[in-house]
Order: sequence, then C-alpha cells, then structure tokens
Amino acid sequence: MVIEILGNKTNPSVLVIGVFHGDEPQGDYLVRKYFAKFPDTKLLMVPCLNKAGMEAGTRVNGNGVDINRNFPTKNWGELQINAFFGGEAPASEEETRFVIDLVEKYNPRVILTLHSPYKVVNYDGPGEEVAKKIADIIGYPVEASIGYATPGSFGTWAGVERNIPIITLELDENVSLKALERPMDKIFNMLEEY
Ligand SMILES: [Zn+2]
Repeated sequence: MVIEILGNKTNPSVLVIGVFHGDEPQGDYLVRKYFAKFPDTKLLMVPCLNKAGMEAGTRVNGNGVDINRNFPTKNWGELQINAFFGGEAPASEEETRFVIDLVEKYNPRVILTLHSPYKVVNYDGPGEEVAKKIADIIGYPVEASIGYATPGSFGTWAGVERNIPIITLELDENVSLKALERPMDKIFNMLEEY
C-alpha cells in the first residue's frame, strides 16, 4: 500500500492528515486543492490516509479496523464495538504505523486531522490555542476531549500521551466541498506560521 504525502518532506512543523475515516472524504479534496494552489507549502500533508475505506465508502479500513481506535495508547482496546473496532492488536494496521512513523520522524509541533460531520474543533493535549484560531476561521465551537476517552485514538496517542497539540476538525458534511475550500485555505495558511 502506498500512502501519498504532499508538501514539505524536509523539515515540516505541522502535519495534516485527511480521511482517517473512509466515509469522511472531504480532507482528500481540500488538501489536494490547497497543495495545487500553494505547492511551496511548509505543511506536511497526507490527503488520504484510508484509501481502501474511501474507495469502499466505509469508516473502517480494508481490514475492517477503525484506524482512529488502533493507536497503541495505554487505554487501547477498552472499547471495541462494530464500526469502532480497534483491531486485533495496537498498531496492527499499516495506516496506523504509517502515521506513527511520520510523527516519530518529523516530531511535528502541531497536528491537524480532518473528519466530518460534527462541526466542532476538538483538541487533545496542549491544542487549545490553535483550536481557537481554527474555530475563529471556520465558525465551529472548540471542544476539549479531556475526560472523554477514545481508546486507541490518534488524539490520545499524540495529544494526551505525547503532549503534541492535535486538532480533530469535524467538518460540515451538508455543505459543498467548494464552500469548505475557502475556510480551509485560511486555516492551512494560518498553520504555515507554526
Ligand atoms: Zn472521523
């Protein structure tokens, strides 16, 4: 499996990941559009992490695993139900290991992942400041996920356990991609300063 990376592969300080969940495809479009307009971006961008899921239109990957429940967190596996199946073992999935390798290789100062449809700017770890900036641009509320455990999530792994500011941006699925493009370009532009 080849997972595509766009942007700054030299010394990025911000990592952006689209399509953790295959039925939330907005990130793929938005990242590619931004990269087409700003090919010299300082951001490191993965337009589509879950290619098999996106092709099948499923939340889970090709093995039926929710990548966002497959990270090797301390609380991995405490909750495994249906579409939220966290895998046979922590980091059992290639997509999960790909993300872990990126974080360990580049040690990003900020991470942004693109989801839908809840219209909320969720953060883990020390991500409140950047969450507020994103919220100001897109007009969604900020929501800390402290206290609401999501076993095996990327937010828990990177934010709670590694103290990296990480934003889980839940986009509106009831507006056009074109309508999301303008605020997302502004958000990506803002993140260029980190
Ligand atoms: Zn999602």
